Amino acid sequence: MRIRQLSFWLLSIIPLALSITSLSAKNTSYPYVPVLCYHRINPKISSIYDLTPKNLAAHLQFFRDNGYHPITALQYIQSQEHPQNLPNKPVILTFDDGNQDHYLYVFPLLRQFGYKATFFVNPGPILERNKYVLSWDELLEMSQAGMDIESHTFSHPFLTKTNTRPDDPHYLQWLEHELEDAKTTLEQRLHTKVELLAYPFGWFNCLIEEKAVEAGYQGIFSVNWGVNQATENPLRIKRRAVSHDLSLLEMERYLTSKPLSIEIISPNDAAILYEKPPVQFKLNDPSISRIDIIIGNYKGEIAPNSQDIFTFTKFETPYFGYYMIIVSGYDHQGNLYINSWGFDYQKPTNTIQ
Ligand SMILES: [Zn+2]
Repeated sequence: MRIRQLSFWLLSIIPLALSITSLSAKNTSYPYVPVLCYHRINPKISSIYDLTPKNLAAHLQFFRDNGYHPITALQYIQSQEHPQNLPNKPVILTFDDGNQDHYLYVFPLLRQFGYKATFFVNPGPILERNKYVLSWDELLEMSQAGMDIESHTFSHPFLTKTNTRPDDPHYLQWLEHELEDAKTTLEQRLHTKVELLAYPFGWFNCLIEEKAVEAGYQGIFSVNWGVNQATENPLRIKRRAVSHDLSLLEMERYLTSKPLSIEIISPNDAAILYEKPPVQFKLNDPSISRIDIIIGNYKGEIAPNSQDIFTFTKFETPYFGYYMIIVSGYDHQGNLYINSWGFDYQKPTNTIQ
């Protein structure tokens, strides 16, 4: 090979080698995926989870100014096979409950910013022509404009019914109706595929998850706190519920947080339990210098100075139903890491003999 040819060959191979290196570096570090869960957006706020349209516009402006790329829940679940397609700094905006104000205030704002979002809706109240919820025409218009309309069950009940045994055939039939009829009704009315589900109130357990998969759902969203891996288990996608007292600074702390690496020892995520469990986990990240834990109404703080198993028993279980366990860790630089899981605490009389 002549020198001239060699230098030509080198010149052409070097950019190729560089691009291969940057591609493989990218492959190993996909972005984390934060998911925000909004409820009512109305000039008159009446609950902690209500935001004014002005609040929401400030959030959308924040995403624009800080390089975030809103994608829909469906785009995220579909991207799991090709995570290299995820945009840099993704954020998923979800709106629960199908309130009419999602058409009046949210849809125009999203259009103004050129953003797409996911709406988890319940067909039951729409069929009853409840005046507070979206109509089929409004949903159809939103869907045709590229908004992602998905299922929030048929009528928005607490799915972990604690006054029935989990193997009661009536309960299982009712569960199938809530999951399957929501999906098929939305599909028929909107002429789209509905493959995602958000649990009402974030309450669930392993049985409900199994039934949701049988009903054909491919991706399921809870309100367990934390951000998600690009290839997270699609049946256990975490979200952060947005309340009107959440400042932009706090929201940014969530958006830039990372998953906390822990090994869950007890109880198993989504377990059905008939007695109060100890909460136990092992921390897998030695850089964490402080941990806050929330279990239902209990709040605690620990300084992890060893790799021991942390055990909590002093929390209360005043009701039957779902308990979320949130573990937030901080390193010496103050960076935030979050992990969460939960269990369904059922009446002991419900125990299957
Ligand atoms: Zn809801």
